[in-house]
Amino acid sequence: GSTIGILGGGQLGRMIASAAAQLGYRTHVLAPDRESVAAQTASSLTRADYHNRIVLADFAAQCDVVTYEFENVAAEPVEWLAERVPVYPSPASLRVAQDRLAEKAFVADLGGTPARWAAVDSRAALDDAIATIGTPAVLKTTRMGYDGKGQARLASPADADAAWAVVGGAAVLEAFVTFSHEFSIVLVRGQDGSMVSYPPPWNEHADGILARSTVPAPPEIAAHWTEAAALTGRIADALDHVGVLTCEFFATPNGPVFNEMAPRVHNSGHWTIEGAVTSQFENHVRAICGLPLGDTGLVGTGVSMENLIGHDVDRWPALVAEPGAHVHLYGKREVRDGRKMGHVTRVSLRDGG
Ligand code: ATP
Ligand code: MG
Ligand code: MG
Repeated sequence: GSTIGILGGGQLGRMIASAAAQLGYRTHVLAPDRESVAAQTASSLTRADYHNRIVLADFAAQCDVVTYEFENVAAEPVEWLAERVPVYPSPASLRVAQDRLAEKAFVADLGGTPARWAAVDSRAALDDAIATIGTPAVLKTTRMGYDGKGQARLASPADADAAWAVVGGAAVLEAFVTFSHEFSIVLVRGQDGSMVSYPPPWNEHADGILARSTVPAPPEIAAHWTEAAALTGRIADALDHVGVLTCEFFATPNGPVFNEMAPRVHNSGHWTIEGAVTSQFENHVRAICGLPLGDTGLVGTGVSMENLIGHDVDRWPALVAEPGAHVHLYGKREVRDGRKMGHVTRVSLRDGG
């Protein structure tokens, strides 16, 4: 069988590797010199810096197709790889999704509605941005943020110094969106341009980190499903994206407000492992390997996915004893506050079940 190369060593890579193994593919993980939980399920691992050309050339030679499991991998080595081996999603998706300013402009051009925003590159520019955007607002680093890291909320202009102290550097100020619910569109696009997407989960966050996803979503979200899925499809087409693409939205009375995109499998799609006919991980593998995409329909009547963050994971003995609970533990050795350690999925097979 062929070998899929995965850039990045986290739980997303780990779950891509197990879906790939089920379809008969080998996986080769390339991860920097840190704990790589993906390597525990992959066929092989190279630990090295992404900028090491000798390692990259060897990796390209060993893989038939390359993908990535996080958008904070540097674009330049990915572009270098793409000249030697097919890389899906292409570096174009990576370039847009790793820069919040580029991403918002790109999505607005395609008819999407991000929260009002202004670029901020200095403390003085933050004052100007506050004058245009107003407060409450959120200041976010343009690059490298995840799980709410690199962000600060401003209740009033008096919070500017504190926010700048946290974020500093290249940033974007966003108007704070009053929303009823958050949701996401997890879409898969094949090499032939075919697309499927999953029923949107209602995503509940705590401290900027996803806590729970529930499907089917309540009516406030269902009302925006068609519009949000159509926008995500236009984004995927415009990027010639191959693989999973996830867009996060806020549900508001004025329609879906675009929050951000991820050019990859997504935490809000973990429910699909047991809750959908084909998981997001299997569909990602199908897409990048040129296979037909699988059915995204819901299994049963409802699904909920709960993240195990930090010491939540200490509850695992009770969770594995719970009938029907699907427990996923990522194999991370060190428990840290705010760290995603695992998740648990519960599927209702019949009403009230
Ligand atoms: P990840 O990539 O892990 O999803 P992130 O660090 O890129 O997270 P965001 O998605 O930008 O962070 O923000 C995290 C959460 O903070 C959002 O899911 C939402 O709950 C809240 N949030 C972010 N921006 C806004 C906003 N403009 N208005 C209201 N809430 C917001
Ligand atoms: Mg993000
Ligand atoms: Mg987010």
